[in-house]
This record gives sequence, structure tokens and C-alpha cells, in this order.
Amino acid sequence: MFEHFTIVDAEDRELITDIQKFAVNDGPGFRTNVFLKGCPMKCLWSHNPETIAPYPEIYWKNRMCHQCGACLDVCPRDAINPPISPEESQSETVSYHKIILDRCDRCMKCVDACRFDALTVVGKLMSVEQIIDEVEKDRPFYDNSGGGMTLSGGEPTAHGDFSLNLLKEARKRSLHTCLDTNGFCNWEVLEKLIPYVDVVLYDVKHLDPEIHKKATGVTNEIILVNLELLAKTGKETWIRIPVIPGINDGMDFHEKASRYIAGLAGNIARVDLIPFHNYCRDKYNWLGLDWPLKDEEAIEPSFLEIPADLYREKGLLTTVGGSGFETS
Ligand code: SF4
Ligand code: SF4
Repeated sequence: MFEHFTIVDAEDRELITDIQKFAVNDGPGFRTNVFLKGCPMKCLWSHNPETIAPYPEIYWKNRMCHQCGACLDVCPRDAINPPISPEESQSETVSYHKIILDRCDRCMKCVDACRFDALTVVGKLMSVEQIIDEVEKDRPFYDNSGGGMTLSGGEPTAHGDFSLNLLKEARKRSLHTCLDTNGFCNWEVLEKLIPYVDVVLYDVKHLDPEIHKKATGVTNEIILVNLELLAKTGKETWIRIPVIPGINDGMDFHEKASRYIAGLAGNIARVDLIPFHNYCRDKYNWLGLDWPLKDEEAIEPSFLEIPADLYREKGLLTTVGGSGFETS
């Protein structure tokens, strides 16, 4: 039922898409976000599509491509589309991607051949030590703001062993830790991580299993059961609700969700409503993926103050946007 992306090489390294510094929306204070690559859910709106597949991918940045053809010459699988004019390939209206994905075996020969950095690998193998050493570099900022490391993805529970080792090492070095999870995992996996986490950031996307399945690829029963079990542990938990047009932007959903969350036992410290945005459109294009929500307008954050009041009325500290410095 659950996909587990085990440590991928003999040196106990895992694929990381990014280590993002000075993040302020993913836990208290200044955070360093570590993004693992690989997630068992396929959310239609994913703002980080490069973190879904559990293997290295290639970005083709059309605006940097000179259509020189060097990649075509080295590809052993006939997986590169023939050059078109640079003007044409840089046009937003032309549907053209350099790589024919279903023929590509990700040998990365084309990336090495590209002199213009139009092709880049997404996903870098890193060990626990390498990641924590990188996180440590910003310790003074954590000390001054109450920040630390946020383990995100992708989905950290799908990389259970690696996530556990990383969180244990962070704890050993007295770093504050947040775990950003969609909760779609065996409870035993989450249970093992919790002792090494200061705050759990837990996604709630919908309460209706069928709508949840249409929007994410999986039903939500196990996610809600895990949330209820998590609440019973008393661990500080921030619920995060990505608000998506046509999926969960109605007041009826927020009325039900606010009642459900307010009824949870435990330490639900706050609820963050995260407005849908479309800044990630380029990433879908670079990966050669057709994004079903590409024409959706971003939600204006102030529009979410009205549903946010439904949560506040029930005694839940609620933000729009999730800034780690906001408390209203
Ligand atoms: S080698 Fe790079 S610049 Fe040349 S066609 Fe391929 S992607 Fe474009
Ligand atoms: S990664 Fe290898 S197989 Fe895929 S397009 Fe590039 S050269 Fe061809």
C-alpha cells in the first residue's frame, strides 16, 4: 500500500532536491528546509513537482537552450527531440520539450553535453552528515529566531530510515526540528520519528475520501487515523491546509475541517491555511509535465481570512500563509 523509498546507494545517501535557507513559513523562526525526493501521493496542485518522483530527473530550461543539438548527438536512446528555432522553443505557446520522457533512461549524457546549462539534474545524493553540516551553517540564525531544520519533501515518512537517522543526528546536535508530513504512512513509521521532532507540520487536504483520492491519488482514512494518533501523543502539531480552487476552497469544507480539528485531543498549536499559487508553473514546464492546474489563478491570501475565522471562532490559532513569525 505504501511506497517506501529506501536509502538509494551503498554510502547511505538519499536524494535531496534542495536545501532551502532562511525559510520562514515552515515552522518557527528561520528554518533550513531539507527536501527529500520521492512521495507516494500525487497532489494535483503540488508546488514542488520535482520532489514527487523518487529518482533523479532533468530540468530543461527552454529560455537557456540555444538549440545547438549537442544533446541529440550523445543520446543513446533517441530520446531528444530534434532542434527547432530558439525563438520558437522559448515561446510560452509552443508545446515542445527537449526530452521524450518515455524513452529516456536518465543516463544524463545529455546534461554533460550541454554547454549552456539548459539541462540540469534534479536530485542530488547526500548523506546525513553532509545535510546536517549544511544545516549547521546557519545555527546563529536559529539561535536568534527559535528556528532550525524542517524535514520536508517529497514525503519524509516514505524515506523512514533515512529521515530517522537525519532527525536523530539533528537532535544529537541540539537543532530544533520540524517534520513536514502528509501522514500517508504506516503509523509505526511516524511513531518512530516523533521522539526526535519538536513540531510536526501535518497536512489536511480534504475530509472526503473520494475527493481526496481525486486530488491526491490516495484516499485519506489512514491520514486521519494517523493524525488522531499523533494528537494523542501530545506532540506539538501545526495543521497545514493547502487551499486549492475547486477542491477545498468552499466554506462548507472549512466549516467541517475546523470542527474536526477543534475536536482533536492533544496539542494542535495552530492551523495554517496555505493559498494556492502558480509560481511553480515553470518547474512543470522544465520537467516536461503537463500541469492540470496551469491555468488556475493564484488565490489572493486576504480572501482566506474569512474561512480562517471559522477556525479562530473554534479557538484555533490560525494564520493565512503560515509564517513562523505570525501569531494571529
Ligand atoms: S545541448 Fe543544451 S543548449 Fe544545446 S540543444 Fe541541447 S539543451 Fe539546448
Ligand atoms: S538522460 Fe540519457 S537517455 Fe535521457 S535524454 Fe539524456 S542522453 Fe538521452
